[in-house]
Formats: sequence, C-alpha cells, structure tokens
Amino acid sequence: MSNQMTYGEGTLTFRHGVHPEEYKELSNHKKIQRIPFVEEYVLPLGQHIGAPSKALVRKGEEVRRGQKIAASVGFVSVALHSPVDGTVTDVGLVDNPKGEMVPGVRIKTDPYSSQQLEERPVDFESLDIKGFITAIQQAGIVGLGGAAFPSHVKFALPEDKSCRYIMLNGCECEPFLTADHRTMLEHAREVIDGILIIQHFLKAQKAFIAVEANKPDAIEALRLHASNNAFPVEVVPLQVKYPQGAEKMMITAILGQEVPTGKLPIDLGVLVVNVGTSKAISDYFRKGIPLFERILTVTGTAINNPANLLVPIGTPMREVINACGGVTDDAARILLGGPMMGAVQKSLDVPVVKGTSGLLVLGNAEIQDFQEYSCIRCGRCLQACPLFLNPARMGLLAKKGLWDDMEDLHVMDCFECGSCSFVCPSGIPLVQSFRVAKGILREKSLRERSLRESKAEGKES
Ligand code: SF4
Ligand code: SF4
Repeated sequence: MSNQMTYGEGTLTFRHGVHPEEYKELSNHKKIQRIPFVEEYVLPLGQHIGAPSKALVRKGEEVRRGQKIAASVGFVSVALHSPVDGTVTDVGLVDNPKGEMVPGVRIKTDPYSSQQLEERPVDFESLDIKGFITAIQQAGIVGLGGAAFPSHVKFALPEDKSCRYIMLNGCECEPFLTADHRTMLEHAREVIDGILIIQHFLKAQKAFIAVEANKPDAIEALRLHASNNAFPVEVVPLQVKYPQGAEKMMITAILGQEVPTGKLPIDLGVLVVNVGTSKAISDYFRKGIPLFERILTVTGTAINNPANLLVPIGTPMREVINACGGVTDDAARILLGGPMMGAVQKSLDVPVVKGTSGLLVLGNAEIQDFQEYSCIRCGRCLQACPLFLNPARMGLLAKKGLWDDMEDLHVMDCFECGSCSFVCPSGIPLVQSFRVAKGILREKSLRERSLRESKAEGKES
C-alpha cells in the first residue's frame, strides 16, 4: 500500500503524522533583516556532519570577511570562512550547540572596517562535475534545513546512480520557524537559480519544490520565477502536517513512492536540497559569497520582537536575542531549532552555526514538565509514526535495556521526529529513549566492526 494521500492541490501528503499548533504568525510576516555586526564571533570547526575542518589561521592573524579560515579534512568535510573583517583572538576550545567544548576559532571584529564584500562570480559553466563538487565543498555549503550534511557529498552521485528529479525542500513543517518561508518569498529568484546551477551538472528530468500549503505567497513567488525558464520546475503545495519536511515523507507525498528501509532518496533517482541551500549555491556562483552567514528565525512567545534575520555564522545567541529586543520575564526555555526537533540550550554563549534554522524562546505556559505514567496502550503513537514503527513497544523495550530487540523493531530507522512523544498521553519520553538506543546500537556496531577488522588483520599477519 502506498503511503501517499492525494485529493487535490495542497492536500498531497503521507499517512500518519501529527498537527501541532503552528505559531507561524509570530514571524511569517517579518521581512528578513541583517543583524548588526557584533564584537566577537565564535566558530566551532565541526559545524557539519563529518570530519571537523582544520584551522588555517593563528592567534593574532588578521582575516577578511569571506576568507577561508579552516580547510576540509577528507571528503565528508567542508571549509569554514570568516564572517567578518577582524583579528583572530584565539584558536582553542569553544561552546557548541550540543553543550560540548570543541575546537574552534574566535574572531574580534575590526570596528573600523566597512565589512563591504567585493562580488566575484564563479564561472560554473567552465567547470566539470568534479570542479562543481570541489567548489561547493570549498564554499563551505551544507544542508541548511538543520542537518548540516555537506552538500557536495550529495552531488557526488555513485556511478550506478543518476538524478531523475531535483527536489527542493521548502516544507518548513516545524512549528514557529519561518526562515525558509521568507527565503522563498524574498529570494525566489535565487532559489530557482540554485536549481538551474545544480541542473547544469546533474541533468535531471525535472525539479519539484515542496512547500506546505500554509505559505501561499511563497508558492506564488516561486511559480512566477519558475515559469521564466525552459527547465521544468513544479511548485507542489503539500498538506500542512508534521513531519512533512522529512525527506522520505516529502518524496512519498509528491511521487507516491516510498524510500525503502536502508536506502537513500537517490536510490529512487531523487536528490533533495533545502531551499536555503539552493540560494546559498546561487550566492556562491553568482556573487562568490561562501557560506558565512545564514537566514534564521528568532521567535517564540517569550521573545520581545520575533524576526527573520540574516546572521553571520558564529554570532553568539545572546547577541541574536539582544537584536530582537531581549526576552520577556516569562522566558523559560531556549532552543536552537523548532520545538519538535530543536535542542535545548543552557548557555547563551553558544553561537549560531551553519545548521541553525531558528532560535526559539518559550515561556512558562508552553513548558510543562510532564509526569510520566505507564503506557495505557492507547495506540496514539502508532497512529502518529510516519514510518509505521511501534513506538509503544520500543519504549517498553528501552525501559528494560533490550537494545537488540529494539533493533529488530527497526529503531535505527527512526529519524527522531518526536511525533510519538508529542501525542503520548502518558508523557513517556519515547523519542528520547530511541535516541539513547540508537547511540548504544551504533557504538556496539562500531565495536563489533573494529573487532572483526583486528581479527582479520591478525589472520593476515
Ligand atoms: S518512532 Fe521515531 S520516526 Fe516514529 S514517530 Fe517516534 S520519533 Fe518519529
Ligand atoms: S501513546 Fe503513549 S500511552 Fe499510548 S500506546 Fe503509545 S506509549 Fe502507550
């Protein structure tokens, strides 16, 4: 049975999922504004999935805005650039959004610099696919939807695979967040241009842009720009439902096909790119601007002036909050990202990184420390899970530490959308326990692999 549901425009979707309150009205009408430059920027070297980059600068060194300050290490890694003209004040340990101290670079802004940037377009038409992939890696471009997966790795298709469809993700199904909405509305031209640049190299048949139907103005703007080109780009309104923006859910909604367990979208000939990433690709090739700033939403019931901001990577959270008039007396919790998948922050020293799509400040009314009760077998979590997993059963197994049994129930497929926890009337921290289980199972598999390898080496020698 296909997981797709089709009734008409704006109603395409997947089966299951949840309907959290949207709260988009707090910021969806706010134009993107550039935040003023601040005194200091903090840049962790590992902002992407893969190997952290390696610092190329030393304490005391002067750097320019857009200058590469750290190089990629290996293929699954990207370069990092200075967001300002300034001076390196330290290469040492800095805070990251996961609450860890990690290697990073601190840059003090030059107060006398105009921070003007000279535009230097990159002639992509003279590049071959390898040159394109290297350029994207050197521009530091990663998926801006939140995962921060290096984009060039996606574009390096295995020899036996080809890209039939480029699929842009403009769903932005997380409540509160509106940065992608404003990007599509205010930068529709660049978003479409990014598709055309990707298409130049990947030679797809067609592109789709998936947008939840609660953004009619963005849909209209994209359709207007899409119609100006020979390459077919279809803007597809999808039903407003969480987690509509998950790659697999989006593909099911549009194509009616499911990405099988253990497979990737490219196995169906689909290459998924976030709308912000598409704009970043256009910005790099048309203006020579690497990824050193991003658009994010600062919102929540406990922030004084919700906004969509263009923020240099490395800006400490407290500065971003200050730019929005600070928090109300009621502020109780700060998250990077949305309420469903965002990470709670303990320190305001944490900087904006490449994967930061939003900064959410919630008040006491939204924060309820649920007491946990026993599972009443209501089945709501099963009805919510977009992957048709059995969260109730996995939750019981997690309590007993039966990780292998959880693996048999496909816990490794869980992409931690949090829909099961959201609907659970017993307040069971389901997704949290799946996160723990996945970590333990991943470690176990690594241990087993290294044991196998060292045994094999022993046999050889
Ligand atoms: S089991 Fe995982 S994928 Fe399914 S609803 Fe829960 S968090 Fe989402
Ligand atoms: S939603 Fe909660 S109470 Fe209901 S079956 Fe799932 S785990 Fe049990």
